[in-house]
Amino acid sequence: MTTTIIGFPRIGHHRELKFATEHYWKKQISQDELFTIAKNIRQAHWQAQVDAGIDLIPVGDFSFFDSLLDTANLLNIVPERYRQLNLSPLDEYFAQTRGRQDESGSVKALSMKKWFNTNYHYIVPEFSKTTQVKLVGTQLFDQVAEAQELKVPVKAVITGPYTLLKLSRFIDEATPKEFVTDLISAYQSVLTKLAEQHVQWVQIDEPALCLDVTVSDKQIFDQLYDGILTNKPETKVNLQTYFGDIRDIYNDVISKDFDGIGLDLVEGPYNRELLAKTGFPADKTLFAGILNGKNIWRNHYANTIAELEGLNIDSNIVLSTSCSLLHVPYSAEDETKLPSDVQQHLAFAIQKLGEITDLDKIYSHQADGNTILNKNTELFSSVKHPVNETVRTQIASLTHDDYIRLPVRNEREQIQKDEFKLPILPTTTIGSFPQTKDVRQNRSKFRKGEISREEYDQFNNDKIKRIIKFQEDIGLDVLVHGEYERNDMVEYFGEKLAGFVFTQNGWVQSYGTRGVKPPIIWGDISRTAPITVKDTVFANNLTNKLVKGMLTGPVTIFNWSFPREDISPKESVTQIALALQEEVLDLEKHDIKIIQIDEPALRENLPLRKSNWFSDYLDWAVPAFRLVHSKVAATTQIHTHMCYSEFGDIIEAIDALDADVISFEASRADFTLIDQLVDANFQTEVGPGVYDIHSPRIPSVQEITDLINQLITKLPLEKIWINPDCGLKTRSETESFESLKNIVDATKKVRSEI
Ligand code: GLN
Ligand code: ZN
Repeated sequence: MTTTIIGFPRIGHHRELKFATEHYWKKQISQDELFTIAKNIRQAHWQAQVDAGIDLIPVGDFSFFDSLLDTANLLNIVPERYRQLNLSPLDEYFAQTRGRQDESGSVKALSMKKWFNTNYHYIVPEFSKTTQVKLVGTQLFDQVAEAQELKVPVKAVITGPYTLLKLSRFIDEATPKEFVTDLISAYQSVLTKLAEQHVQWVQIDEPALCLDVTVSDKQIFDQLYDGILTNKPETKVNLQTYFGDIRDIYNDVISKDFDGIGLDLVEGPYNRELLAKTGFPADKTLFAGILNGKNIWRNHYANTIAELEGLNIDSNIVLSTSCSLLHVPYSAEDETKLPSDVQQHLAFAIQKLGEITDLDKIYSHQADGNTILNKNTELFSSVKHPVNETVRTQIASLTHDDYIRLPVRNEREQIQKDEFKLPILPTTTIGSFPQTKDVRQNRSKFRKGEISREEYDQFNNDKIKRIIKFQEDIGLDVLVHGEYERNDMVEYFGEKLAGFVFTQNGWVQSYGTRGVKPPIIWGDISRTAPITVKDTVFANNLTNKLVKGMLTGPVTIFNWSFPREDISPKESVTQIALALQEEVLDLEKHDIKIIQIDEPALRENLPLRKSNWFSDYLDWAVPAFRLVHSKVAATTQIHTHMCYSEFGDIIEAIDALDADVISFEASRADFTLIDQLVDANFQTEVGPGVYDIHSPRIPSVQEITDLINQLITKLPLEKIWINPDCGLKTRSETESFESLKNIVDATKKVRSEI
């Protein structure tokens, strides 16, 4: 059988692309040097696939920053303001990804959004009335030629026009429909070029087909592909979907002149039903996405083979991954410090290549197929995830009441106001203060064993003292300890909870040159010792003002980790929630009156189809958060914080978290969210960010005053908090100190005028 994958991680085995790109940005290497490094990376990745025995190798999945933007630029979709800088194509591309400010001019970057239900972020292409879609770029064809020279069996990869239109932004009243005709000819030109290069297959990625497809979406899809597939040249076209099923458009897809259709059989189990009920055309090839492209675990071969056999179709099948391997780290062989039972269950990108070819050997009854299968079965028969009976019993005995905090929020609101006696429009921050170089150095020295625990703590305590003093001096109302002890808001908690393990090199691209190294959930999760109590209490003892405790919420810890698969997400997240509940009660016992439980990633794992939002996710995610704080006293105020995404469509779920206060990112979105909150009769007190911490700009007192004045016309005065829109960790002290001072001054000004 033929084997393939949808795409390969592109940052390089040791993140070479990241480092080279950053060196290029700092003008430490030339464009040619960057190109050579990139070429070597591509070659190494193709070679790894050839060595593993993959038959069709994706080419075009490489990117200097983001594939969607690559496709846009290939098709001349570059906003005028970037062209006007008169830069080289590479610099014009980077200007779109990260903005530019120098003698050539000053432009902001295009915006960035989360790629479907992953933690990868894409650059949002922009169409305007002046956009002229046509094939202008050569990058894809150059890479194809490069691969062919190396005798790599090429499958060219490009993002499809439907997904491009769905994910792009349309300005000055331009609409997607206007671009359909030009997109058809542009994609036809792409196919013609690839045919001239004798490319056997092209994979057109259309993950957006796994979202809800409306009637007008469907018309656009039909128009696009009826056009593109007319007089199709020799090169075969595989319409590749992933991250879910394509129930809304399946009939249209199978009736068109595609040579292959790629379905995700892991995250889109309903695709199996479509195959069974509606059938699959015998003259087309099914690219069967049977190997999980997102998880990091070994595949259970016997189960996968049974699933493949169950497909029961007469067509050609190509064995493939469920999605691009972009979402997993490079190789599990790099991990040398994990317990061996964990280690042997890991499959990162390199191991997954081997798994695809293993599955082929088993499925097509090749000589060593049986041995491979038996070895795999044996591996799974011995797997033992650490079980914590106490936690299991606790979960089994949870009842409805465990998720309900009493008295109800309205009553608590009054009790807390009487207790805290805060001024109107109380001011606070989101938690972290700048992680300056000395803070990071202190941590790294401690990790390397160069300084003692006492020295490490002493340094952080001094930082806490200094920042408490600063907050008192400028007049903030609710203070924080600054989170100096935290490297990362999830890793920090993971390291202190039983059940997690950590990789040394498990980097996954988050966007551009940025990566994350998610913790792995391996066993049952429990709290073995207090986590944040010491630092919070230390800060609390330094001041008469209220100090807010800072926790990362259960859903965010779960969503930013690699989950285990032998128990449900609900079960794991409930375990985390119980561990955090202990921490919350411990903080409360130590006289911490305000506790913030951050959930920036709450929205992140929403299922792609709206109809599944509650049943598959919110129905357990929201209760998990409630469980964390349901047992605190009425006089303890629970805050939460959210950022990175739009919340307009899950307002009710957010209110249902039953927090007392929520702070969120709003300054960039022109406060549109506020109107939505008002419409939804939102009950939680709100702190919409009045300082965009993602930008080095310092907002002036006047600017913030105007924002606050806007806020108080929209929301009830007694429900408003004033704060930045996220943690200050990545900012410099100069910028953030001045900005915070301006926030407090602006608030005082507004208070005095009310
Ligand atoms: N409390 C965290 C901080 O201030 C919140 C971070 C986040 O929202 N991502 O850094
Ligand atoms: Zn945030």
